[in-house]
Amino acid sequence: MTDAQARLIVEAQRTLGPKAVLTDAADIAPWATDWRGRVHGATPAILAPASTEEVAAIVKLAAEHRVPLVPQGGNTGMSAGATPPADGSALLLSLRRMNRIRSVRAEERIAVAEAGVILETLHDAANDVGMRFPLTLGARGSCTIGGLASTNAGGTQVLKFGTMRALVAGVEAVLPDGSIHSGLSGLKKDNRGYSIDQLLIGAEGTLGVVTAVALRLVPAVAARGVAWAGVDTPARALELWRYLEARTDSIEGFELVPQDSLALVLKHIRGTRLPLDGEHRWHVLIEATTPEAGTSIGAELERLLGDALNRGIIGNAVPASNESQAEAFWKIRDSISEAERAEGQTLAHDISVAVADMPRFIVEASEQVERAFPGVIASGFGHLGDGNIHFHVRAGSHAAPDWYEAEGAEITRFVDDLVTVAGGSISAEHGIGQLKRIEFARLADPARVHALRAIKQALDPLGIMNPGKLVP
Ligand SMILES: Cc1cc2nc3c(=O)[nH]c(=O)nc-3n(C[C@H](O)[C@H](O)[C@H](O)COP(=O)(O)OP(=O)(O)OC[C@H]3O[C@@H](n4cnc5c(N)ncnc54)[C@H](O)[C@@H]3O)c2cc1C
Repeated sequence: MTDAQARLIVEAQRTLGPKAVLTDAADIAPWATDWRGRVHGATPAILAPASTEEVAAIVKLAAEHRVPLVPQGGNTGMSAGATPPADGSALLLSLRRMNRIRSVRAEERIAVAEAGVILETLHDAANDVGMRFPLTLGARGSCTIGGLASTNAGGTQVLKFGTMRALVAGVEAVLPDGSIHSGLSGLKKDNRGYSIDQLLIGAEGTLGVVTAVALRLVPAVAARGVAWAGVDTPARALELWRYLEARTDSIEGFELVPQDSLALVLKHIRGTRLPLDGEHRWHVLIEATTPEAGTSIGAELERLLGDALNRGIIGNAVPASNESQAEAFWKIRDSISEAERAEGQTLAHDISVAVADMPRFIVEASEQVERAFPGVIASGFGHLGDGNIHFHVRAGSHAAPDWYEAEGAEITRFVDDLVTVAGGSISAEHGIGQLKRIEFARLADPARVHALRAIKQALDPLGIMNPGKLVP
């Protein structure tokens, strides 16, 4: 520990109280490694303020002592953005004690939640007043509102409601000089230049500490219809999406599943069953919802899929006959990564291209990867309607136990090159963090790099906010 860190820790203990400063190695350990257990960091302390004023006091101290801070929420991020550097040079700033929901106003459709509020807690609070916060994802029981905003998280409902960027009405944050930006007034119109709120969304803790967020609510779901459809190709799946999109605005989930992924789920995940009879090379899980009680949304979805079948867009489809069957369909989709891990080593790429280009990209990129790296199996699943899929490359059965370490970086570079040539993004949902920083630096165009560096330098000239993350 450096002298500056030691001084900061003593002053933080005075400011926050001793219980809010963890220095015991056993208390720190779970938070110093990323969620996937791949990146191991080190830090002499975790500081856990309980209010915006306390965060501001800590940031001022950090600036004074030139000690970097790594903001952290639930530590569920996929790019190791919340993992401190391995040299122990930074302190972790945990927002988990800032876990108050300040207000939930159904008539204004706004909830104000502090950064450390767990997503599921917000879901419950919105539900209690007949409303809904529509963003949801697998980590909802542990990820925080501050982390979701800072990674501009997406999830399975983006199709209808957008990412965090669309769902945030305002941000309160402590900037790197310790000043407080208060953007929670929920103004519908505000043209005072650059949007500081939007700058902080997706900034991965590099421009300040998000302390509270005003979030947009929508009416609660009154009923949903879920169905599983079989198609020949990803192009047919996209045709189905276009067909549905033109006829209803009730579709909020549209997930592509290749036959290979379905087979792995049925092989490895207990309690899963084939959803649809017949041979289909690709599958689509569709969810339609309505806030209107008494609307037969399931029947509407069934009718539309019947029409799609008659037009030859799909090979077959089956509606979920009840809630437990709907959950069983979603379980298949949500278990793909787990099934792949059970099968063997897998390299995951969270990528996006223009929606119209995605079917061709999936087919051609898979062929190219399999040709360039004989024995691997490449495929894509996920949010087709968002132009975002998880492009996964699995080791073949012959692969050495160190395949991931030995060949992973080269395969990822190959995939990232294909994505870049297609005009896409090497990070659709998960951010850059530390895991994608080298690839981001290699592939980002000069204008983007220039702007990112200039913004970072302007707001954080001392480089104390999450150094070594995101900015190339
Ligand atoms: C099972 C699982 C499923 C997932 N599914 C999806 C998905 O479908 N879509 C998707 O987009 N993501 C998904 N994710 C990743 C998702 O990004 C995170 O779950 C979530 O957004 C991060 O929240 P967190 O509180 O855990 O943040 P952390 O992991 O703690 O931090 C993430 C980043 O945000 C910064 N940060 C955290 N809090 C603050 C704050 N208050 N102020 C400033 N910076 C802060 C950190 O420094 C770090 O850079 C999934 C993760 C898991 C584990």
